[in-house]
Amino acid sequence: MISYGKQQITDADVDAVTEVLRSDWLTQGPQVPKFEAAISDLCDVKHSIAVNSATSALHIACLALGVSHGDIVWTSPVSFVASSNCALYCGANIDFVDISPLTGNIDSKKLEKKLALAKQNNTLPKVVIAVHLAGQPCDMAQINFLSKQYGFRVIEDASHAIGAKYKENAVGNCLYSDITVFSFHPVKIITSAEGGMATTNCNELARKMIKLRSHGITSIETEMTEESHGPWYYQQQMLGFNYRMTDLQAALGLSQLSKLEEFVRIRNQLASIYRSKIAKLPCTHLLQKNDCYSSYHLFIILLDPSVQEKHRATIEKLREKGIQAHLHYIPIHLQPYYQQMGFKSGDFPCSEEYYKRAVTLPLHPQLTEQDLDYIVNVLSDTL
Ligand SMILES: *Cc1c(COP(=O)(O)O)cnc(C)c1O
Repeated sequence: MISYGKQQITDADVDAVTEVLRSDWLTQGPQVPKFEAAISDLCDVKHSIAVNSATSALHIACLALGVSHGDIVWTSPVSFVASSNCALYCGANIDFVDISPLTGNIDSKKLEKKLALAKQNNTLPKVVIAVHLAGQPCDMAQINFLSKQYGFRVIEDASHAIGAKYKENAVGNCLYSDITVFSFHPVKIITSAEGGMATTNCNELARKMIKLRSHGITSIETEMTEESHGPWYYQQQMLGFNYRMTDLQAALGLSQLSKLEEFVRIRNQLASIYRSKIAKLPCTHLLQKNDCYSSYHLFIILLDPSVQEKHRATIEKLREKGIQAHLHYIPIHLQPYYQQMGFKSGDFPCSEEYYKRAVTLPLHPQLTEQDLDYIVNVLSDTL
């Protein structure tokens, strides 16, 4: 089976992990801060906070921004459920802004309209979570502009987008947001098995997230409310979690990070080959914007309306032929859990239309041009 995404583990990665296994620290040792420093360096950002998943990073990002009961968080429906579940973990309400049908990202014009209406109704969001679908950054300059005008905070869910650039700058630098979140799940661009990272330029947000990932505890004397009782002393100052990354994971992540640029370059090459091979087929691909360099976590095509009725059959046929075609994503508001909260079919028409036409084709650095030939030939036969 040609899988839609796949990790690439080298001997160097294996060595990096086994070295930690033989060391004194399996967790809370030197590898995590090393990995964090490397991400800060890559993104040119002040702080990076490693955690055990992007889901955890999204949760503590929301908490650090003060999201709680009665607050409203907005994101786009075409994402993994974690992008909106994080708001629910905090007791907040979630709402969605429909996507641009061309990029699949949150539509900043629809965002502006919805904000104007929300201002009238006193239902402005506290936080907007911008998801960089498939690795292409959202319209961050405009979202940042609106955040100042309407007074909301911004989280970038860059789970797909490590190694991507927006206006020449690395995603994760938080020039247009409060916090950016990365995922290191094996299907993503680089992996630490499970793992995530939150980046920020704000000292206060960083301090909060560092506490939240480890029970709300601090051992830093200057942060304590009274004089230390001795060398064993720590204080719990808020309700936190055990969201820590292990040193094993950090060593793998750090080793993988050295290949990030190459991985993203190969992904872009393969995507460009795909684009030319599908040019004559009755489908398009997600529009690539000039001011973005996508990390191409996914290669997503949209079937033309003329062949839209073959959507399901296309994915089934590709799978029959050993190609793990996929669909990213089922619009979140159509999930039964979200329908129980009152969302219904018809609420976000562009996302629902996208769901009827989108197909994810396999894309990872081990694929060859011959694999792509085979995939596009099967696709062509089906369409
Ligand atoms: C994968 C993913 C997540 C969750 O990542 P984990 O590290 O598995 O928790 C969140 N948001 C998006 C958009 C993702 O693709």
